[in-house]
Amino acid sequence: MGKSGKEKLSSPQQTIQVLQKHNFNFKKKFGQNFLIDPHVLDKIVEAAQITSEDFVLEIGPGIGTLTQYLCEHSRQVLAVEIDKNLIPILKETLSPYGNAHIIQGDILKQDIEQIAETYNDGKPIKVVANLPYYITTPIIMQLFESHVPLANVTVMVQKEVADRMKAEPGSKDYGALSLAVQYYALPCIAALVPPNCFIPRPNVGSAVIRLDCLAKTPVEVRDEKLLFQLIRASFNQRRKTLQNGIANSAELPFSKAQAAEAISRAGFDAGIRGEKLKLQEFARLADVLVEMRS
Ligand code: SAM
Repeated sequence: MGKSGKEKLSSPQQTIQVLQKHNFNFKKKFGQNFLIDPHVLDKIVEAAQITSEDFVLEIGPGIGTLTQYLCEHSRQVLAVEIDKNLIPILKETLSPYGNAHIIQGDILKQDIEQIAETYNDGKPIKVVANLPYYITTPIIMQLFESHVPLANVTVMVQKEVADRMKAEPGSKDYGALSLAVQYYALPCIAALVPPNCFIPRPNVGSAVIRLDCLAKTPVEVRDEKLLFQLIRASFNQRRKTLQNGIANSAELPFSKAQAAEAISRAGFDAGIRGEKLKLQEFARLADVLVEMRS
């Protein structure tokens, strides 16, 4: 039972009962691994720092297990679920929660700015999800790049992806995702979650990570788009030098000689690799490239 006295879903028995009652079959293509551990659910709510004033956007509610916890702790929850077969289940499992709203659809196609406007007067929202692992990065990047007003984003992801988000220059996990996440947010791993906390069990370990969105980006650049093109170019070909990465990028219009000149003007060695550069250094190089382009 939850605080409200409502029966909650967070046990393997109840989850199986609901799935059987509705004849539900898991769809691998939607990354469906449902949580069945109350400690993990408590941990997610705690990590997200949800208060009774908050509006929460949940991505992929499944049968509503985490949604029930979110509803108990917040003012209002909007849950966006792609799988049509889950909608009748959600209507039933969330029926005792007057503050739950369900939208059937793809999160990548929602106007989240409009959602923040409608449900939270345009103020920064909290996003919580046990993410479908097949589209973790596109979802996170869309949230950040569309400049939706965000307070924090608390998500269950593959442990390896959480490590990449937090990684520092020089480590094996450091890459385009680390830089993109750290440009917008401060990452903090809140819990490690083993496969037996889900039905069906995923093949990998998972982690809950909270991304606290920064009020101001940690570096200023003249062209944000070019900064990210440069970052992608640097890590697309990990074993190549930065010079070759820039010259070979389909997104960037610079020759090898121009790349070499920019690297030298930014004060780096000719043979430097992207994995050695900090965000500030990428920003410096991006500004030199902007100057050269114009
Ligand atoms: N929140 C539930 C839980 O913790 O038990 C389910 C989590 S499960 C890992 C991911 C959920 O995201 C599934 O219900 C899946 O159908 C849904 N999903 C997958 N792709 C989606 C998309 N593009 N937009 C919205 N929901 C999606």
